[in-house]
Amino acid sequence: MTQNSPVIWWVRRDLRLADNPVLHAAVSSGRPVIAVFICDNVVESLGAAPKWRLGLGLEAFAKRLEDIGSRLVFRKGAALDVLRTLVAQTGATAIWWGRQYDPDQVARDKAVKAALGDLGCDARSYAGHLLFEPWQVQTGQGKFYQVYSPFWRAVKDRDVAARLPAPKSLRKPDHWPESDRLADWSLGRGMDRGADVVYPHLHIGEGAAHDRLARFIECNVGQYKDQRDFLHKDVCSGLSENLTYGEISPVALWHAGQHALDAGRPGAEHFLKELVWREFAYHLVYHTPHITSRNWREGWDSFAWRDEGGDVLRWKQGRTGIDVVDAAMREMYVTGRMHNRARMLVASYLTKHMLTHWRVGQDWFAECLVDWDPAANAMGWQWVAGSGPDAAPYFRIFNPDTQAQKFDPAAQYRKAWLAELSDSPPQSAMLFFDACPRSWGLRPQDGRPAPVVALADGRKRALAAYENKNKS
Ligand code: FAD
Repeated sequence: MTQNSPVIWWVRRDLRLADNPVLHAAVSSGRPVIAVFICDNVVESLGAAPKWRLGLGLEAFAKRLEDIGSRLVFRKGAALDVLRTLVAQTGATAIWWGRQYDPDQVARDKAVKAALGDLGCDARSYAGHLLFEPWQVQTGQGKFYQVYSPFWRAVKDRDVAARLPAPKSLRKPDHWPESDRLADWSLGRGMDRGADVVYPHLHIGEGAAHDRLARFIECNVGQYKDQRDFLHKDVCSGLSENLTYGEISPVALWHAGQHALDAGRPGAEHFLKELVWREFAYHLVYHTPHITSRNWREGWDSFAWRDEGGDVLRWKQGRTGIDVVDAAMREMYVTGRMHNRARMLVASYLTKHMLTHWRVGQDWFAECLVDWDPAANAMGWQWVAGSGPDAAPYFRIFNPDTQAQKFDPAAQYRKAWLAELSDSPPQSAMLFFDACPRSWGLRPQDGRPAPVVALADGRKRALAAYENKNKS
């Protein structure tokens, strides 16, 4: 290994310069750094909105690297093939990357690491996507945590890695390997339906993420605990969109939250607790990877889910007839995001009142959310459905009307997203009709439909299904 052979930095969900342990190590090595993003089957399999948003994040990150005199090389193909080719083309002897934890990426990375090792390459992975590596948080019995509260208690006083500065420059290789044109990958093609509508709601890139964090800490953290559940209030950080692509590190959020806590800001601890829900989700995905695809809890495989395609379409279209559920589904379609409590409400209505399998909802979120995250989405759906870890007990079924009265008392949220509720709807609500497929044939003047399932009937039916599951 010579000081002149480049380090290949395989960029994945870490589109940032600051707080990036793998980049820090590559720069500290003193060797040239070649940053590469590979469009492989893991990227190809993303849903329309997250794939489009990833493309925008990559464009911004490539620009950021250019600003410090470097580049982001784009290549398409199976990761191992691409990396082998790059080793041959560049003389690189080291390939380093930031770790990911979901089953698809873990399987790929293990195979890549072994094969590159056989070639004599220094293949290494680094932390950076999480605050704590999943194997570093264990119960007294050396097991992994399955319940959130003890997990939080186990980590809340731990030291978190110090922040790392963004490098001012990266040493260039003698020759840059060829790169695809990002635009030729057409990562946004699935968003033909409404990219123009969703785009203004995005905050793309590292700079935007740090601005968002600063604004949140300055203006909102103090009211976070008490106000965050109100559906029409813009009190939360919005940073899930940036965390998922690694445009900001959880370490940056943690230290900002701790600083606010030390300064006596009341909502700060609650913010840290929410950030630790993200950790918990990754901890579970790492230790029980089946959470992304199968019932986490035993005994759920016999549950009698219903398969009513027409009803599911109405749920996707925001036409279940339950106002708060429909408003939330349209918020997601128009903004690429959905309020956290609203996510719980639409998930509960789908899985409990409609008795539809949680995977149907998980897949639709994976298609529509610009902040789609493999761990948080899987845990969220299974948590609400009752099949997941630390889940809400099945008999505790959200009543969306009661929830709306409590968290949207003046119906501001419902009116903002449901055009059918007003004679002169706001622009936010009308945008849904610009973004949704013409084939759905929806018009604001169509009026509100009767509920897919009335709330009392749905609740009764769900409880009966649950009783039957327990008998079988
Ligand atoms: P803030 O309230 O500002 O919280 C700060 C950060 O903490 C978030 O950015 C997020 O990283 C983390 N966080 C907060 N709440 C949760 C939670 N309940 N679970 C895990 N992490 C949390 N989150 C995603 O990032 N991607 C998803 O695909 C996703 N799917 C979900 C599906 C369902 C059915 C449910 C119930 C929740 C889902 N969540 C998901 C979790 C949560 O709704 C979002 O993280 C949150 O709404 C993001 O908004 P924010 O960044 O303003 O969060």
